[in-house]
Amino acid sequence: MTRYEADNVDVVVVGGGHAGCEAALASARLGYKTIIFAINLDSIGMLPCNPSIGGSSKGHLVREIDALGGEMGKNIDKTYLQIKMLNTGKGPAVYSLRAQADKNRYSEEMKHTLERTPNLKVRQAEVVELLTENNTVTGVVTAAGAVFRAKTVILAMGTYMKARCLHGETIEYCGPNGLKAANELTKSLEQLGIRILRFKTGTPARIDKRSVDFSKMAPQYGDEEIVPFSFDDNAEDIAREQIPCYLTYTTGETHEIIRANLHRSPLYAGVIEGTGPRYCPSIEDKVVRFSDKPRHQLFIEPEGEFTNELYVQGMSSSLPEEVQIKMYRSVIGLENCEIMRTAYAIEYDCIDATQLKLSLEFKNIKGLFSAGQFNGSSGYEEAAAQGIIAGINAVRYIQEKEPLILDRSDGYIGVLIDDLVTKGSKEPYRMMTSRAEYRLLLRQDNADIRLMPKGHEVGLVSDERYDKLLKKIADTEAEIERIKSINVGPTPAVQAMLEKYGSTPLKSGMKLSELVKRPELDYYKIAEIDPERPELPKNVTEQVNIMVKYEGYIKQQMNQVEQFKKLENKLLPEDIDYTALTNLRIEAKQKLDAIRPRSIGQAARITGVSPADITALLIHLEQLKR
Ligand SMILES: Cc1cc2nc3c(=O)[nH]c(=O)nc-3n(C[C@H](O)[C@H](O)[C@H](O)COP(=O)(O)OP(=O)(O)OC[C@H]3O[C@@H](n4cnc5c(N)ncnc54)[C@H](O)[C@@H]3O)c2cc1C
Repeated sequence: MTRYEADNVDVVVVGGGHAGCEAALASARLGYKTIIFAINLDSIGMLPCNPSIGGSSKGHLVREIDALGGEMGKNIDKTYLQIKMLNTGKGPAVYSLRAQADKNRYSEEMKHTLERTPNLKVRQAEVVELLTENNTVTGVVTAAGAVFRAKTVILAMGTYMKARCLHGETIEYCGPNGLKAANELTKSLEQLGIRILRFKTGTPARIDKRSVDFSKMAPQYGDEEIVPFSFDDNAEDIAREQIPCYLTYTTGETHEIIRANLHRSPLYAGVIEGTGPRYCPSIEDKVVRFSDKPRHQLFIEPEGEFTNELYVQGMSSSLPEEVQIKMYRSVIGLENCEIMRTAYAIEYDCIDATQLKLSLEFKNIKGLFSAGQFNGSSGYEEAAAQGIIAGINAVRYIQEKEPLILDRSDGYIGVLIDDLVTKGSKEPYRMMTSRAEYRLLLRQDNADIRLMPKGHEVGLVSDERYDKLLKKIADTEAEIERIKSINVGPTPAVQAMLEKYGSTPLKSGMKLSELVKRPELDYYKIAEIDPERPELPKNVTEQVNIMVKYEGYIKQQMNQVEQFKKLENKLLPEDIDYTALTNLRIEAKQKLDAIRPRSIGQAARITGVSPADITALLIHLEQLKR
């Protein structure tokens, strides 16, 4: 293959998936010449698995991406089929937006956004080699021999690297949906000393909606009063007729069919080498692991407005096709279902993310960044979150500025990246609210307050947008001050309101804000005894209600964050020789030398580094100061 000099850019992004799109948009919008490669341009922003964006903790990620100036939130607001706030029966820390996406439209909109972005070139080509000089990235080479010189490169190859798709005895060497796999680049990365892992995930069959008996299922509707993902969007502007999903269940017969054919599953036959996600188990896994459960719930989800394809959520599988047909037809309402796409498992190469810094730059190759499923995560939202950070930091690298690092108290993005690069992941890493220790502060409703200032600082959030945020914060603080300053007495009107909501009558005066804290009351309910209340937008009243109602818990968590920040801000020199520190245990020396933590806080989260090792490190830092 003859090589030729094709172009010279600032940022090369390898991958047009959720990570690549956010990375490329970030660097191009910051004014840097960027080119994004995809093996097939029609797969840009493709949703190869579940037709949804958001959900528990994933909705938080989408809102954080939006607050930083990313695209995913806006894209799903344009292309959703149904939108719903989950967990509203629980506390606001776990409220999370979820939307059914029109897959084709989602991908088209994202591709069109890339195509309309200044400084951004979109190119169909397979990158087969990475170019470096003196451990610094210099560009890439495509399968056609085109050499693209670049100051930085972002790897976001998802589930395509040496991918193979399996169901039963059938093995196809291709990427998702039969798209071409990327079989060359792994070798080039390994030659540069990058450690490669093998992971696996799976997807269910797609069935034809004409063959489904919906009368046997429970429809699941979206919210009437919708909340947009993007802080820029208004509910009325994105309102549209919504399409329902349907709830159904597997049967005893389903479980029997699976048990009788487990030996033909590549997973149970040991053909699959890659490690799969515990939190996204295949139906085979569920039947084996939860054998006491008589049935498993499934959601039948529309893939788009202009397609008959339905996604059977909860039933991913790699059993043989003939078994799948029997298995799906044993589900309530699917007795006559027609499979349009067979379920399959996919194996692919990815990296051990402990090779990355918290900026997502590789420790051993300057200017090389990595994001998305290729870092060992799983999920569109997790990928997009890493993508925007990698895009911003590729630009900061060119600008020779400090990278943008979000820590565990800044957002779910901070938790995600810290977990991946500090602990690594032995299976596809999926975000969950339980992973975020400060989740009462990291709510989806205040992602803009937490992260938009950082998006503005790096240049991705406009002044106009930032001013709107400052007004929201000012209005919120003013209203909180106001209801904290108003004292109400046991007047008939007050007592009547309290009685209406089953709340204890007042014996003497009380601040309005104290009433909000009562479990049976909130900021909205006390409106009837608050005649002076100003007209305020929903995004302000929501903040007032949460900040006042949970004030005690929020204060508590802010104190915890203060403690956390103390250790997080104790930075460790980049060139420290851990092997020479005699007070450290051998395991700690090895782990610290491999991970090279940025701070004492990060060091303390490395598996195998004990509190005694941290004390030894703190003493060493003190000695260095003297
Ligand atoms: C079968 C299947 C099942 C899944 N199941 C789940 C699930 O149950 N739950 C879940 O959360 N997530 C699941 N996912 C994962 C989800 O799809 C990914 O998390 C998400 O798409 C990752 O986004 P990404 O941007 O990292 O990569 P991808 O969306 O995979 O995009 C990768 C991009 O890189 C391009 N590319 C790759 N190699 C090269 C190269 N050498 N040169 C040029 N371009 C290249 C491709 O063309 C593509 O545009 C599943 C994925 C698949 C395929």
